[in-house]
Amino acid sequence: MNGKVWLVGAGPGDPELLTLKAVKALGRADVVMIDDLVNPAILEHCPDARVVRVGKRGGCRSTPQAFIHRLMLRYARQGKCVVRLKGGDPCIFGRGSEEADWLAQHGVESELVNGITAGLAGATGCGIPLTLRGVSRGVTLVTAHTQDDSSLNWQALAQTGTTLVIYMGVARLTDIREGLLAGGMAPGMPVAMIENASLPQQRECRSTLVHMQADAQAFALKSPAILVIGEVAAARAVLPMAQSA
Ligand code: SAH
Repeated sequence: MNGKVWLVGAGPGDPELLTLKAVKALGRADVVMIDDLVNPAILEHCPDARVVRVGKRGGCRSTPQAFIHRLMLRYARQGKCVVRLKGGDPCIFGRGSEEADWLAQHGVESELVNGITAGLAGATGCGIPLTLRGVSRGVTLVTAHTQDDSSLNWQALAQTGTTLVIYMGVARLTDIREGLLAGGMAPGMPVAMIENASLPQQRECRSTLVHMQADAQAFALKSPAILVIGEVAAARAVLPMAQSA
C-alpha cells in the first residue's frame, strides 16, 4: 500500500502561526521534507520523524525539483506518511499544486494543507490592513521573479487600485519602481518592505515608491522580504497602551 503525502504550509516563520491541521500532519509523519524558508523550530511537532532538508538557500545549489518529486514518491511507495513542509502557503508561489498533480499521476494520494502566506502575515503583523474600507478594495499578490525572466506588466499593475503585495522583489526594485511610475502610480505612494516577517529578526523599512530603492539600499534590505505598495502601507501597528503612555 502506498503511503500518503501531505503538502503542508508552515506559515511565515513564527511557529505559533502554524495551523492545527499542520501540527496534526506533522505528528503522524514518518518523513518530513523541509524547505529552507521553514523555521526549524516547527520540527518540535515531529520529534520522531526523519527530516530531509530540500532547501534552496544557505549557499547550496537548489535541490532540483525532479529530485524532490522522486524522493516524495520513493517514501510514499514505501508506505510512509510524508509531510512536505513549505514556507507560507503551499499554493502561493509554492508549487504545491504541481507536486500534488505529479503525485496523482504516479498513483500517490496527497492532501494540501493551508498555511498563512508571508505577504498576509507580514502586513498584518506590522499593522497594515491590506484591505481597508474606502481606501483599498483589494489585494494583488504578485511575484517579481518569473521562471523565464519575462518582465511583469508593472504598468498595468499600477492601474488596479488594489494594494500590491510583492514576493521575491528584493533584487527587482528598479524594475518595480520604474514600471509602477511609468504606469502612473504616484511617486509618494507608501511602501512597506518587511524582512523576515513574523520572526524575532523581523525588520521593516517604510518608504515611498520614488525612494524605495535608495531606502532599501540604506537599510540593507535582504531576502526574504515582501513589499507592500499602496495607501495602506503607511499604516502602523498601534502600540500597546503601556508603551505609548
Ligand atoms: N509559499 C510562500 C512563498 C514562497 S516564495 C508563502 O506563501 O509565503 C519566497 C518568497 O516569499 C520570498 O522571496 C519572500 O518574498 C517571501 N517570504 C517568505 N517568507 C517570508 C518572511 N518570513 N518574511 C518576508 N517574506 C517572506
